[in-house]
Amino acid sequence: MDSNIYKCSMAQYKKAKEMILELHTNVKRLISPNLKNRDFKKAGLSEVGVGSLDGVPVERVIIILRGSGCEWAQNREGGCTMCGHLSGSSLGASIPPGHFIKQFDDVMKRYDFRKYPMLCLYNGGSFLNEREIPKEVRRYMLRKIGAVSHIKRLIIESRPEHITKKMLDEIEALLPHTTVEIGVGVETVSDILRELVLNKGVTSAELIKVGEKFRNRKTRLLAYVLVNPPFLTEMEAIEDTVASIRFAAEIGAKIVSLEAVSIQHLTLVSFLAEAGFYQTPWIWSMFEIVRRTYHPGLQLRIGGFEFFPIPKEFTSNCLACNEKMIEKINEFNKYNDLGIIENLSCSQHCDLEWKKELQVVDNRNLPERIISTLGAIDIEKVLNRLKQYEHKN
Ligand code: SF4
Ligand SMILES: [Zn+2]
Repeated sequence: MDSNIYKCSMAQYKKAKEMILELHTNVKRLISPNLKNRDFKKAGLSEVGVGSLDGVPVERVIIILRGSGCEWAQNREGGCTMCGHLSGSSLGASIPPGHFIKQFDDVMKRYDFRKYPMLCLYNGGSFLNEREIPKEVRRYMLRKIGAVSHIKRLIIESRPEHITKKMLDEIEALLPHTTVEIGVGVETVSDILRELVLNKGVTSAELIKVGEKFRNRKTRLLAYVLVNPPFLTEMEAIEDTVASIRFAAEIGAKIVSLEAVSIQHLTLVSFLAEAGFYQTPWIWSMFEIVRRTYHPGLQLRIGGFEFFPIPKEFTSNCLACNEKMIEKINEFNKYNDLGIIENLSCSQHCDLEWKKELQVVDNRNLPERIISTLGAIDIEKVLNRLKQYEHKN
């Protein structure tokens, strides 16, 4: 990617950051769930998806617990700008340990794990943060999963600051027959993009450090790499993701999940989409990224579909080929075979439209794009439109 996009003065950077943060906090202020209607004894979501267990196609169980919300997102100016998980949480209100245990037990009972060797257990934040999932609850769940010998792979998620050697030792002791993957949001190789646009609050240096903690361990680092952050052209986004996958592999990730930005309600991304300044990436772009980075030593997954609250838009092509392409994504995730996504076409030729979009060039640097885009939007008007959507989750 042309690095000129990151060449800017300190004043430009500061102004762009201020504008993003102000908007981000204003959008977040619209989150006012009626907690009385929420049942914190019931998991947010559970479903079966496809997956690959070291090359063998399997079905996996996905559980998303309803939690108190990502601690980073609860901070006034915190929270990542593409993430809307907070809306489905208790917004920091404490949830009794017994409620978490009930959510977990009820949902685990529904599945016969002889058929599902893979379990994804998410909480819309950091499973390893004890202020989000109390220690005794974490240990209870891990112990229970460890006792189900059919579960060969467990996937959890955490911000890097909660991943310690002690925590990894505990996980490995409680799950002697299961390999655990810990998903960490690497998002991009660029510190500027991660900080200025995504408001991630995590540096590359911290990611390198966390990668070292996984060295020579049974527990694996799973890197989430974002596809199509706001303010990039489609081609820049592809190039950023390609470089970010390489970075993730360098820091020690054994698995990379491509996370196409989806539109979750009440996020800065949803604001930009509502204002006409953001579109989710083409599925063609996802395939292009896989084609450019695929190699047998690295497991690539195409993710970005399993969120709670459920986003209103995902990566897509055109109506004529969407369904077929989603099937191809599922097939790729099962077999990890590049041939599955090669030589595809659309009866409506939307690939030509995509190729045209790849030619779009923007000569402005990143802060200039942010300042001029946000400056052109009637912010109050768009915030009011966002406010009117019914909050379903
Ligand atoms: S992406 Fe992860 S770290 Fe960022 S706000 Fe969402 S849950 Fe928190
Ligand atoms: Zn199409």
